[in-house]
Amino acid sequence: MPDRLTMQDPRTQYPKPPFPKQPQPRPGIAGKLEPRPDHGEKSYIGAGKLKGRKALVTGGDSGIGRAAAIAFAREGADVAIAYLPSEEEDAREVLALIEEAGRNAVALPGDVSDEAWSRQLVEDAVKGLGGIDILVINAGRQQWRENVGEVTSDDFDKTIKTNLYARHWITQAAVPHLPVGASVITTASVQAYEPSDILLDYATTKAGIVAYTKALAKQLVEKGIRANVVAPGPFWTVLQASGGQPQEMVAHFGEHSRFGRPGQPVEIAPVYVLLASQEGSYITGEVFGVTGGAGIA
Ligand code: NAD
Ligand code: MG
Repeated sequence: MPDRLTMQDPRTQYPKPPFPKQPQPRPGIAGKLEPRPDHGEKSYIGAGKLKGRKALVTGGDSGIGRAAAIAFAREGADVAIAYLPSEEEDAREVLALIEEAGRNAVALPGDVSDEAWSRQLVEDAVKGLGGIDILVINAGRQQWRENVGEVTSDDFDKTIKTNLYARHWITQAAVPHLPVGASVITTASVQAYEPSDILLDYATTKAGIVAYTKALAKQLVEKGIRANVVAPGPFWTVLQASGGQPQEMVAHFGEHSRFGRPGQPVEIAPVYVLLASQEGSYITGEVFGVTGGAGIA
């Protein structure tokens, strides 16, 4: 197979469905996904775009957050990753890769739906890294439900706490630490624009993340800080297999994208690097879709 940066047909660059059905309990372990996702472990090559920077990435153990964490470290940043304690085995792999890149790695296990922890993790990151100048709020909960009657108050509460409240708590705790030139990046979804019937609560939070981040960008630019949203389409991560989608949809995940396959996490990492780095100096309050051709209009 040609390497990731060799010119080639993007439709056949990575695995296509059908994939095996593979249920896992939430939050799931990326290391057990079949086929194994490409988070850039072997394929991401850095170019010094984030030399000396200090990044906090929530949900940095797996999936899109892991790809961002690996890319940031290869670009020269020290990286703290936040994750759930049950994800320790995925987190250890990422921490080792950050260290292999010659950077400082900080582990922050805990549940962000807890306000006290969301605030504490920021303080721990500041202590461990010696500051924060890239903040990626990416952790998310997705749980499909067949119809509106099945979305319990507990489901609704957990999704809103994880996807919206935690973002607010983490942002509030982090802003006083962010220096001029810092960058905030939040992960929303194409679901903010094209909500699936089975993701009522999740899609609602993703639309909220877009509005929150755009409003935040207007405040932060007054301090010389940028804030942007990334809106992914279907990416091959454990979020889907661990309850985010029915298993029949996991087996055909990404089939309906223009590429006929899901994206691999490494394919979205360059967008996080651009938004984090000074190369993104004129970009704020924007939403970057990487949707597999669906668009976010
Ligand atoms: P993932 O499961 O690999 O990452 C999500 C991470 O969120 C988990 O690893 C976990 O560490 C963290 N998390 C969840 N609940 C938490 C909690 N209560 N406390 C602390 N951490 C918690 O899946 P992913 O697809 O990489 O998801 C990353 C982001 O991308 C999410 O916000 C998701 O909504 C978004 N997204 C994913 C897709 C996709 O197709 N994979 C599409 C659009 C948006
Ligand atoms: Mg995970």
